[in-house]
Amino acid sequence: NPDGRRRHRIAVIAGDGIGKEVMPEALRVLSAAQQKFDLPLELVPIDWASCDYYAEHGQMMPDDWKQQLQGVDAILFGAVGWPATVPDHISLWGSLLKFRREFDQYINLRPVRLFEGVPCPLAGRKPGDIDFLVVRENTEGEYTNLGGVMYAGTDREIVLQETVMSRFGADRVLKFAFEQAAARPRQKLDVATKSNGIAISMPWWDGRADAMAQHYPQIAVEKHHIDILAARFVLQPQRFDVVVASNLFGDILSDLGPACTGTIGLAPSANLNPERTFPSLFEPVHGSAPDIYGQGIANPVAMIWSAALMLQFLGEQAAHDAMLHAIEHVLAHGPRTRDLGGLANTAEMGAAIAALV
Ligand code: ATP
Ligand code: MG
Repeated sequence: NPDGRRRHRIAVIAGDGIGKEVMPEALRVLSAAQQKFDLPLELVPIDWASCDYYAEHGQMMPDDWKQQLQGVDAILFGAVGWPATVPDHISLWGSLLKFRREFDQYINLRPVRLFEGVPCPLAGRKPGDIDFLVVRENTEGEYTNLGGVMYAGTDREIVLQETVMSRFGADRVLKFAFEQAAARPRQKLDVATKSNGIAISMPWWDGRADAMAQHYPQIAVEKHHIDILAARFVLQPQRFDVVVASNLFGDILSDLGPACTGTIGLAPSANLNPERTFPSLFEPVHGSAPDIYGQGIANPVAMIWSAALMLQFLGEQAAHDAMLHAIEHVLAHGPRTRDLGGLANTAEMGAAIAALV
């Protein structure tokens, strides 16, 4: 590589439904960014991790999927799921959730931002009022399969499900969140908790946050019980900059956040292994949208923004910024897809963004 930069190897998995329609637009915009910034990208097209593959092979991915992804830095992922032919739990556990676990993608990162030109479901909000990151713990916490039902089917039936948090697991997500906050101008971190009601794990989580805060004296830290935090997302979104939460609370917040900013067609997400021991995965928040697949009307922005996040993670900040500016401009001035009140199709919107990079 002429200027000595390391190549970025990117596995491209379109997946199912509108994943197959929005991925080409992300690649179109990436290609524009590659030309403009001379990015050392190497795309590795992958034709598995889809329900089409399942129909032929009876599984979502080949047995040697890990070998096939060897040396890959990032996975750009469209959407997975085609419930008409494959039950969601099979398609999800057979692909996306395998990546998350086996590649230790312990951070789920979702930027939440209100753009000019996008109608906001919250009255009176202007662009600039909503611009924050939700950092969700992605590997432990409330989502365990530890527990069971006793005396099943009787009047004495009892169910128990455990929450598991480790010092290692909590500290690494808190550290990541503090680092994000430290890199942003507002120097503020909000922590989701419920230490008044969940009286063992959540006070412990708060303690880990306090311990981590010692290393970041410049960051203003505020804790919120999850119930009032959800209300504040809606009522006072401008007070947030970086929000960190355990797996369950983060799951809820990372859907609530994007819902406050208009269409699901905009929201991107990153599943990160920050140490880069394994590839990280970048995907839109939305699913395969079988109801609109085949019409060419899906909004490609969530996919394109996910690709921009990927470039940022790979150290290509200038290319990320150019992609985001292009997205901003097209959202403000059109062409826009129907979910945004426009008439453009997926390709028209993607091409307009690519032209502005
Ligand atoms: P999941 O895959 O998380 O289970 P889901 O299948 O329930 O999600 P989606 O596929 O995200 O849901 O679709 C939810 C709704 O949002 C559908 O009506 C779909 O048409 C719409 N939608 C999703 N993504 C887009 C998009 N990119 N552009 C326009 N509309 C979209
Ligand atoms: Mg779905």
